[in-house]
Amino acid sequence: MKLIGKLSLAMVATACLVLSVHGALGVSRERALFEQDMERDEHLIGRVLGAAVAETWKRDGEQEALRVVAGASDRPDGVRVRWVWLDDAAPADHRAEVALGELAAHGATGGAVRVVRGGDGTSRFVTYVPVEVGTARRGAIEVSEPLGEEEQYIAESIERTVLTTLALVLLTGALGWMLSRWMVGRPMAALIDKMRRMGEGDLSGPLALAKRDEIGALASAIDRTCDQLGALQAEADAETRARIAALEQLRHADRLTTVGKLASGLAHELGTPLNVVAGRAKMIRRGLPKEETEDSARIVVEQTERMTKIIRQLLDFARKRSPQKVATNLTALTVETVAMLAPLAKKRSVTLRVEDRPPLTVCADGSQLQQVLTNLVMNAVHASASGDVVTLLVERARRKPPVDIGGPEADHVALRVRDAGAGIPEENLGRVFEPFFTTKDVGEGTGLGLSVAYGIVREHDGWIEVRSAPGEGSIFTVYLPVPPPTPVQP
Ligand code: ADP
Repeated sequence: MKLIGKLSLAMVATACLVLSVHGALGVSRERALFEQDMERDEHLIGRVLGAAVAETWKRDGEQEALRVVAGASDRPDGVRVRWVWLDDAAPADHRAEVALGELAAHGATGGAVRVVRGGDGTSRFVTYVPVEVGTARRGAIEVSEPLGEEEQYIAESIERTVLTTLALVLLTGALGWMLSRWMVGRPMAALIDKMRRMGEGDLSGPLALAKRDEIGALASAIDRTCDQLGALQAEADAETRARIAALEQLRHADRLTTVGKLASGLAHELGTPLNVVAGRAKMIRRGLPKEETEDSARIVVEQTERMTKIIRQLLDFARKRSPQKVATNLTALTVETVAMLAPLAKKRSVTLRVEDRPPLTVCADGSQLQQVLTNLVMNAVHASASGDVVTLLVERARRKPPVDIGGPEADHVALRVRDAGAGIPEENLGRVFEPFFTTKDVGEGTGLGLSVAYGIVREHDGWIEVRSAPGEGSIFTVYLPVPPPTPVQP
């Protein structure tokens, strides 16, 4: 039941109780006053008549006295007067209407009062006034009058009380409902709506209830809380934006470092085609037979295209773009990146190899994943000795995410980069993902590669694991979630 209903019901019940008790008390007081009045009147009649009867009894005898009583009984207001004997030997026409036992219990000698229901169904108020007539027997004047008038008055009084109670109950109920709705219901509904919106993260639209009671105070407190939360949220948003910007900056810095390294490797890679192009151009200038000129021109075009491709790859990698997660073929991306890094590895006499090539797809930003791969591969190349092989493997793997990510064991797409290099000492194993942690010489390493890579992979809801031991090489594995199956187009 709603609060308004409960309040209204409580008000109605209270009004009902108060009015009922008040009505019942009023009716019983009126009844008592009525009866007091009748008793006084009847007693008076009994005393006056009793004195006359006693006098007549002594002077003219019993018969005359009874005639006086009978004469007094003949009244238009319904008051009846009788002579009764207050003993068991009384004849039927002089027997008291009330049983003698009851009369004694009511103190009959002082003028007992009883309401008696007569044979005709009407009730009478009876008073007994004992009269001393000089005999051994106890006699009394019985004065009685019908209670019809009183009963009618009481019935009307009860009816009036009931109607007043009903009217007041209806009025209190309606008033209580309206007041509760206005004072409690509406502000409460506004409060509930506000709390619901707060729960959904909407802190706008202050309540501003123009009330000075407790509900008003609560509304002001909620408004104040919302303002504070809003300010905190704005602060947190600004902080997050600043952090993201700093992170982006860091990533870009790391990318440019890698580009620098790549560029030096690629200079070597570009040298060969440039020499070919220069040689062929000179041959054409010297003048050759038409067939050879055409052949040289074709070679020049091929070599130029190769160089353009290498430079485009480098530019693509260096460009700063906002992350865009799309379905990305991780295997193809790995093969492509390995092709880009191969010249750099070759410079150190390290071979890059991609094992098993099942076409596995992830939902990711290809450019960012390429940055991760480049970091892992370049670290592996740096750790490898001349003649070593760095192996890359893309496969499905069942794995339980680490505690900081949480979740049950599930299928993941795993990308492993394995080298047979120096390995990582145990004391460094827990620090390799720290920003600026490096064991390389100044100018060689920034210590940002793995921390940036880890950040990127975490943003793709994945993580990086490392297994390594000094002298036994290292395996860095990137785990990424398996993307949900794409709906089949009809
Ligand atoms: P940087 O390569 O610039 O030093 P990284 O964050 O990429 O920065 O790597 C941090 C450190 O982790 C490296 O300096 C190196 O000591 C260690 N490390 C990373 N990959 C390997 C690996 N494959 N073999 C051995 N050590 C590694």
